[in-house]
Amino acid sequence: MSLAFTPADVRLPSGHFIDGAYVPGPDAIEVRAPSTGQVLTSIPCADAGVVDRAVKAARRALDMSGWGGCTPRDRLRALHRWADLIEAEADTLARLEAVCSSRPVSQAVAGDVAVTAEQIRFFAEFADKEGGDLVPTSDSAFGYISSEPYGVVGAIAPWNFPISMAGWKLGPALAAGNAVVLKPSEMTPFSTLYMAELSVRAGIPAGLINVVLGDGPVTGTAITGHPGIDKISFTGSTRAGAAIMENIARTGIKPMTLELGGKSPMVVFDDADVDLTADCLERGILPNAGQFCVAGSRIIVQRGIADALAARLAERFGRHRPAATWEAEAGFSPIISETQLARIDGIVQAAAGQGGEILCGGTRFDHAGSFYRPTLIAGVTPSNPAVTEEIFGPVATFQTFDTEDEAMELARHPSYGLCAGLFTRDLSRALRLTRRLEAGTVWVNRYGRSRDHILPTGGWKASGLGKDLGREAFAANRRTKSVLIDL
Ligand code: NAD
Repeated sequence: MSLAFTPADVRLPSGHFIDGAYVPGPDAIEVRAPSTGQVLTSIPCADAGVVDRAVKAARRALDMSGWGGCTPRDRLRALHRWADLIEAEADTLARLEAVCSSRPVSQAVAGDVAVTAEQIRFFAEFADKEGGDLVPTSDSAFGYISSEPYGVVGAIAPWNFPISMAGWKLGPALAAGNAVVLKPSEMTPFSTLYMAELSVRAGIPAGLINVVLGDGPVTGTAITGHPGIDKISFTGSTRAGAAIMENIARTGIKPMTLELGGKSPMVVFDDADVDLTADCLERGILPNAGQFCVAGSRIIVQRGIADALAARLAERFGRHRPAATWEAEAGFSPIISETQLARIDGIVQAAAGQGGEILCGGTRFDHAGSFYRPTLIAGVTPSNPAVTEEIFGPVATFQTFDTEDEAMELARHPSYGLCAGLFTRDLSRALRLTRRLEAGTVWVNRYGRSRDHILPTGGWKASGLGKDLGREAFAANRRTKSVLIDL
């Protein structure tokens, strides 16, 4: 069956989702389809009062259901049922995703929804396997480390992969025994609302997942500053991460996980497999029109193959054609908003103004909606804005080097350290350089996450604090208590 659809036919969930029910609020924020620029609907913006209602619902649900303390196996079962329902409702979820985001509907079904269900099951399996520890103490005492959920987790997600980001936040937090108040991006709220609705249908107690709609300054600030929220889990820009840290410092310190921006280098040596590398470089920047945190946006190539690789990439970049996210065949994704497209173009033009040579792209597509051409910029210095700024669009820079040391110098970003790609057939060099790259993840002769959810993801430096995915994400949703009993 074709997944293609007409936006007007999609029934959009409306209102916040609190205590298992939709809660209406006055229209405040327009939600648009980036594929056309048309307004789809308007959503409310939760103020401190609405956020407080959601936090109280979360706390009540924890107390009444005993979710945090309930037999871990029951938590595990409920999460598996939720994952089953997410898979069963994949088409509906994917349409709610595609209608307002940059995700093509076919990719949302095959990728985002499928992987999110897998990840929820992955985290569910920790519920009855990870616990505290008995510790060696003196003979006169008995000591153990108890592992406990935080309570209410406040989660804030970006717009670029709404289903996946909701899964990353909700899966480990719930498996670890917490309740969640989650704010999706104001640009892409619908799939998250529907995931919350499905959780109640799956038997997860109402109130354990609450979704509040709104923007960062009002709703996000109310979440991060709420005294009833025990932990913050944020994914978004480094700028917003810094604002959250400030607000937490002002309103009461609480633990936080921050998954922030990146500007990841792709370091290619002369001995690399050129076909494989060209594939990885293209897939490292063009999916979702480059709007993904781990985008390999700085291509750094050893001189011997630089010209050939640049020509090959420019040719490949030129092949992409835009398509609305609801068409049957996935096309090149739109940019999320006109504001973001103008920002991308501003950096590209500034890069050219400072000596950058645009090898391809550099303009918007002549197509309805917010589509920007895949763009490759050579001749850039390390201080060029296209090299320093996280562009969050289909734009990569192309730099060359001669020696390993030069490559490492170019790869090092002054503030970001999210991911890095390394392409070489020399195993010793690969092992040597993975140690030198300043990044939370290094991919060698591949680029992008696999379905090995055990690998944690998260940045170094200004790219973040703490990890999502992996055992670490489960652990990050629990806190330990050291207990010592005198015998
Ligand atoms: P953004 O920071 O503008 O917004 C992210 C979320 O934070 C939104 O829900 C927004 O409403 C909210 N927000 C904004 N200001 C806030 C504030 N002061 N207090 C509380 N909440 C606030 O980011 P975006 O444009 O939605 O997403 C793109 C960014 O996200 C990029 O920088 C990208 O690298 C990053 N990202 C990182 C990862 C990762 O795993 N490291 C994953 C996806 C996206």
